[in-house]
Amino acid sequence: MSRQITMSSVAIGAALVFTAVVGVAGSTAATGQPRASAGAAWSYEGATGPENWGRLDPSYAACVDGSVQSPIDIVGATGKAIANPRVAYENSQVIVENNGHTVQANALPGSSITVNGVTSQLLQMHFHAPAENMIAGLRAPVDVHFVHKAADGKLTVIGVMLKVGSRRNAGWQPMVRVLRLSNIHTASEASEATTTFDWAAMLPKDRRSYRFAGSLTTPGCTEGVSWIVMKQPVLLSAAQIAAFTGAYDNNARPVQPINGRPITLDSSS
Ligand SMILES: [Zn+2]
Repeated sequence: MSRQITMSSVAIGAALVFTAVVGVAGSTAATGQPRASAGAAWSYEGATGPENWGRLDPSYAACVDGSVQSPIDIVGATGKAIANPRVAYENSQVIVENNGHTVQANALPGSSITVNGVTSQLLQMHFHAPAENMIAGLRAPVDVHFVHKAADGKLTVIGVMLKVGSRRNAGWQPMVRVLRLSNIHTASEASEATTTFDWAAMLPKDRRSYRFAGSLTTPGCTEGVSWIVMKQPVLLSAAQIAAFTGAYDNNARPVQPINGRPITLDSSS
């Protein structure tokens, strides 16, 4: 697989921080520009864990100083008849890789969402286990983040909760198959795998969602991210869920203070 794709996909968080800091418009992922210096190593436990992220590197300051951080426990949402995001996802080939913090599927250009008249391109999807955002105190076993970027560089993340249901979910089976490859369990360039996603089939049918402002949930915890968390979970079989947790089962940042930020629940039908 080409260096270009590998570089762009190693750590979308780092690439996005780079974009935010220097104000570069356009997609770093698409152009394959080398990401900015990766910053200090971080993890989900111990000395480099979430409680210490803000002190690991000056570029991670928002992790401790920020006031609109993600994830959150979603409570106190105000119902409003706002339009669902318009989803224009295409079937596409994806390159899946283990970046050392999650397993991430990088999208080819062509899939997008439109919210309030603003179109954002789908860059990648990755997951956290257990879920990062919670809904009314409840935590799903897996939380999937679909990361999008608008022309002005602003990010919108669609969060989808994966829960255990009684049957196999065909839409998620391509990702599950990749997660079961032994080489994808190692974080390295050699662990890439290519498959095809029907992206739209991976979202819940009911597109009503919670909307709120937040941040990246990984260092540097950059704010200015628009969050859309789907109210309806997607059900996978227990064996499918186990494919996710078999790859990562402790890559969730703890919930952060809401600090009075408004949370809206799309109550349209
Ligand atoms: Zn995430």
